[in-house]
This record gives sequence, structure tokens and C-alpha cells, in this order.
Amino acid sequence: MNPSLTDTSTLREAGTVLLPGDPGYDVATVPWNLAVVQRPAAVAVPRTADEVARVVAAATALGLRIAPQSTGHGAAALATGSLHDVVLVRLHELTGVTVDPIARTARVLGGTLWRDVVEAAAPHGLAALHGSAGDVAVAGYALGGGLSFYGRAHGLASSHVRAVELVIADGSIVRASEHERPDLLWALRGGGGGNFGVVVAVEIDLIPVADVVAGMLLWDLSKGSEVTRAWARWTADLPESATTSLRFLRFPPDPAMPPFLSGRSLVVIDGAILEDDERAAELLAPLRALAPEVDTFGRMPAAGLVDVHMDPPDPVPGVSDHAMMTELPDAAIDALVAVAGADVEIPLICAELRHLGGALARSGDGALARLDGAYALFALSPAPTPEMAAIGESVTSSVAAALAPWANGTAFLNFADRGIDVATGFDADAWARLVEVRRTVDPDGVFAAAHPIGDGRR
Ligand SMILES: Cc1cc2nc3c(=O)[nH]c(=O)nc-3n(C[C@H](O)[C@H](O)[C@H](O)COP(=O)(O)OP(=O)(O)OC[C@H]3O[C@@H](n4cnc5c(N)ncnc54)[C@H](O)[C@@H]3O)c2cc1C
Repeated sequence: MNPSLTDTSTLREAGTVLLPGDPGYDVATVPWNLAVVQRPAAVAVPRTADEVARVVAAATALGLRIAPQSTGHGAAALATGSLHDVVLVRLHELTGVTVDPIARTARVLGGTLWRDVVEAAAPHGLAALHGSAGDVAVAGYALGGGLSFYGRAHGLASSHVRAVELVIADGSIVRASEHERPDLLWALRGGGGGNFGVVVAVEIDLIPVADVVAGMLLWDLSKGSEVTRAWARWTADLPESATTSLRFLRFPPDPAMPPFLSGRSLVVIDGAILEDDERAAELLAPLRALAPEVDTFGRMPAAGLVDVHMDPPDPVPGVSDHAMMTELPDAAIDALVAVAGADVEIPLICAELRHLGGALARSGDGALARLDGAYALFALSPAPTPEMAAIGESVTSSVAAALAPWANGTAFLNFADRGIDVATGFDADAWARLVEVRRTVDPDGVFAAAHPIGDGRR
């Protein structure tokens, strides 16, 4: 594509569109992941679906491509390609939630955050399959799979997407559901929204969960080996009602933090258990026997689950690496402790293992039908400067490399920020079908997604 920006009037007339040099351009291009610098040909901040449609039509007429972005949590993956011929469409002004308590569904607008869905569902005794952070957007998360603390009981969030409304390459607004464009709905369920259009609304299932046993158990990282061994044994035959994560976590000294976190290196287990109090206590007993320093597990309103993981409340700069693991034997735990345990001085925010299996391992309907693996590894380092980012890339890669002997070579794309072969996120048949759907819906490769499907263009 050979963009010509000599006459940008049609683009400017389409809505709130800012070009380099315009006041507001720099602010509007800053993603949640502050390590990423985005310099697109233009940035649009639409407030309505019609405005999105006008921007898409004007951009394509100028020979520009379009990258939808809700929050920029996944900006590192998008930024691996150049954005010089791209209009970045930021959806953070296109938000809103409507809950249908009878149908147990929610219709959310394109840039809506999970926290808003959780708050709107709670008064009806309903919960949503949100992830660990309330400020991640529904569109990027759910259409990329969506791994929640309800996951082992209810499966991937993408399997619970009922319908999607999106602006496609010709500027029209279409709806994909089981009855309208079912192939496109199949592709959007896990194939990532950004490959097919700008998503302006998503309809999702809610689950009848008003409260949940959730919380965290926390130990000094010097207990990393003992606690991880116990968690690995515990997860081996855990009921599907429990979904947890184990993290080696390092916090910088910060007077604003509680003393049990500030400046500490910790091993933390957290998550949710969908059982009554007695059964939940029975399940937690082997972990509690390890005498955690802090134990917050208890019954809480389901809306509280979005804060249990203590994800950063504000945008931060970070780089990460990822792997899907088949098992967690003692040798893997030794390898993790050797590279990220208490005796190692490294700039690593976390090395996290999410327990998979249960409903996550069973086939749902969609391009990403199941997660292949027993644990998902996610390693994250701070990246406040390019130099620290380079160090962080090497640190997080070293964690993934240490666990590589137990990795299965697939990827969960929501956790994959860089250096990923996107096809490894799908089984071979699903990938072939995804490429075909993309070719049909976006034949000229107009859309630039974080994880591109097809010929790799972004
Ligand atoms: C702190 C943190 C916690 C996380 N926790 C979890 C977790 O628990 N479980 C999990 O599964 N993932 C988790 N993730 C990963 C997260 O789900 C992905 O980064 C996801 O892509 C973020 O979606 P977003 O829309 O907020 O981000 P964005 O960067 O805005 O979007 C990522 C990509 O999604 C597509 N997209 C986004 N919005 C639209 C739209 N409106 N229309 C079309 N395409 C769109 C685009 O291709 C875009 O490049 C976490 C990430 C972070 C940083």
C-alpha cells in the first residue's frame, strides 16, 4: 500500500481524527503498555459506530490501513509492525453496557472495560468471564480467547461470545451471530477482533454467580520451591470448580503499598473456587498447611474477583514472554526457581503459571476451541526505558527458555506479546479456516491486528 496523505480533509471530516503534529495526537496514541511508542499515520477517537464506519471508509479511500485498539494492553504485539500507513482507531470513548438479566447476557460497546461489565452484572446476581485486570477491554480479551478465574468451570470467554457487531473493510456495519455470518462469529471467537474489522459491540453470556470464594495466599519467595511443589501436586487432581494462578512476584519499595508487599519478593497463589464454604476450605487445606503469611481466601461478592490478582491499577511499561506447558514436574520447578527464585537478582515483575484444564481443555465453538496445555506461563519485566526493555526481554526470555523442555510449542495469544508465530495459537484446521475467513471478510488486508491472520501483514 502506498499511502498518500496530501489531502486529509475526508479523514478529518469523518470524525475525531488527529494527525502527527495536531494537539492531542501524542496523548491519543499512548497505549496502556507505556513501553510501546505508537506513531500511526493518524489516530481516530470515535464516539459512535457510525463515526467508526466513516473513519474506516475515509482511511481505506486514502490507501491507509486500520488498527482497532481499545486500551493498548496488547500494544506490544501490534507495535512489532510499522504503523506508518495505519489509522489507529482508539475505542475508549465508545463504551457502555446493557445487561439482559433474563437472557443472562450483556451487550457491551466496542471499547468497554471489564470492570464496567462486572459492576453492571452484579446487581442481577450475575458475573462475567473477565480476566485478572478490570481495565482490560472486553473486545481484545474475549475475542482473543479470554482466560478467567472461572475458566476451568466455564471455559474460555470466547466460547461465551454470542454476537459481534463490527465495521468491516467496506465501511459497512455487520453483525455476526449464530444466524448471521456464522463463519465470521466462529472466527471472532478466539481469532482476535482486529483481523476482521473494528468491533463496535459484543454480546456475551453472563453466569449466575453472585458470590465466590476467592482470595490469595502469600509467602516469602524463599519458600518458592516448597509452595510451587505443593501447588503442582494440588492442581494435579483439583475439581474444575477451582481456577488458580501461582506467581513469583517482586514489588519495588513503595510507601503507598502495604508493608507485606512493599519491597518484597513473594510467592502468591490466588484465584476462585465455585463451591460452598465448607468444600472450599477442604480444598484449600493442603495449601493452608504451608502456613501462608497472608490468607485472604473467603466468600466475597463476585464483583470483588476483579481485584484479587492485584494487577497494576494504572498503565505501566512492560515486556513479557509466554509458553504453554504440558506439566509441572519437580525438574521444571527447580528450573523456575533457578532462573527466577529468591536467590536471583533480576528485574522481573512476575513469573506466573495459570492452571488450565477442566472446561478450558474441552472443545468449545470457535477458532480457539480449547487451550492445549496444563499451565500457561507468563513472565513480565519492567521496561521504563529502551535499555530496561532490552534487559527485560532477555530476562523474560530466560524464564520461558528455562521451562521450554516442558512447553508444547503452542501459544495462548492473549499472553503472547512478541516474537510469536501466530499460527501456533491455533490447531492446523482452525488456522486454515481462519485464513479463509479473513480472506473473505478483509480481502485487501486492510485491518492491522496485534496477532495477524493470513499473510502476516499488519
Ligand atoms: C495487566 C494485564 C492482565 C491481563 N490479564 C489477562 C487475563 O487474566 N486473561 C487473559 O486472557 N488475558 C489477559 N491479559 C491479556 C489481554 O487479554 C490482552 O492483552 C488483550 O488483547 C487486551 O485487550 P484490550 O482490548 O484491552 O487491548 P488492546 O491492546 O486495545 O487490543 C489488543 C488487540 O485486540 C484487538 N482489539 C481490541 N479492541 C478491539 C476492537 N474494538 N475491535 C477490533 N479489535 C479489537 C486488536 O487486534 C488489538 O490489537 C492481560 C493483560 C495485561 C496487560
